[in-house]
Amino acid sequence: MSSITVEVQGLTKLFYDESRGEIRAVDGIDFSCAAGEIFGLLGANGAGKTTTLRMLATILTPTDGMARVMGHEVTGEPEAVRRSLGFYSSTTALYPKLTARETIEFFARINGYPPGEARQRVETLVTRFGLDEYADARVDKLSQGMKQKVSIARTVAHEPPVLIFDEPTVGLDVLNALEMQKVIGEFRDAGQTIIFSTHIMSEAERLCDRIAIIHRGQILACDTLEGLRSSTGFRYLEDIFVHYAGQDDV
Ligand code: ATP
Repeated sequence: MSSITVEVQGLTKLFYDESRGEIRAVDGIDFSCAAGEIFGLLGANGAGKTTTLRMLATILTPTDGMARVMGHEVTGEPEAVRRSLGFYSSTTALYPKLTARETIEFFARINGYPPGEARQRVETLVTRFGLDEYADARVDKLSQGMKQKVSIARTVAHEPPVLIFDEPTVGLDVLNALEMQKVIGEFRDAGQTIIFSTHIMSEAERLCDRIAIIHRGQILACDTLEGLRSSTGFRYLEDIFVHYAGQDDV
């Protein structure tokens, strides 16, 4: 029996916008994830992926419902939740004046990594991500690909059991996108839970152990690719997605 790391029940987020009125960005979703699993949220623009992940990461407060990470509830124990997860988004900024080493150490420490072991952890990550040559350069001097590596290293610096990647390959060239997919696979093999969002069908097909199809704030289907295939009779995820979400919204 696999161990559950993330549990979401009835999770809901409403926004109010003057021109649009009430927006049900996330509308009562349920799912759970296990250790050593890659769980994908697949949805079109505006489906509610980012809002869901931000609630899990304690950046946004849910309007209703419950989410637990490693047994800690996101509204009741936000600090324990933050120590249990790493959140990566292509729009997360790095501090431009810190070096790669300083960045990784800073994030390890603020997320509760034992201070005496932080230096060793930094060196492990610098080596893992091939940052040796650049580790003492200011982050704003690095190439886009190197910045991405520093961002991943900072996300995993405190060795969290749960990793959340919001559209991690957006804006990356093909090689960097493949590297990102490889890294995510390695984290899974190391027993971490990875929840990631994407609108790219091939990425979800290749990477996910289970896929949740999210549309207009609701999860319309959630299963393995094989399970989705047998429920719908379609082979390709694109067709499966259209089956649930409808042609107009793809
Ligand atoms: P994308 O891939 O385009 O980022 P998404 O699936 O991540 O899409 P969300 O960003 O979660 O979708 O947005 C879900 C809905 O909530 C959209 O209609 C969006 O416009 C709306 N929304 C998100 N944030 C806010 C906000 N701060 N105020 C008002 N509406 C918001």
